Amino acid sequence: MHGFSSSVLSCRERERLEEELSEVRTRSRNLSRLRQLTQRERMALDEREQTAQARLRDHDAEHGCQR
Ligand SMILES: [Zn+2]
Repeated sequence: MHGFSSSVLSCRERERLEEELSEVRTRSRNLSRLRQLTQRERMALDEREQTAQARLRDHDAEHGCQR
């Protein structure tokens, strides 16, 4: 049966988290292209990316919508 897996694939919350992660990545890429980032700025951006990644991982683990 295909019905179940296709409905599970369109998880809104996961989409939102993925968007968040790609936004963070895009922003840090753009910023570092514009100018040299200070170490503190880069660390803050890294941390934000890791947080977004962890949220996505947690969501997968709890929700299981990628299985
Ligand atoms: Zn989900």
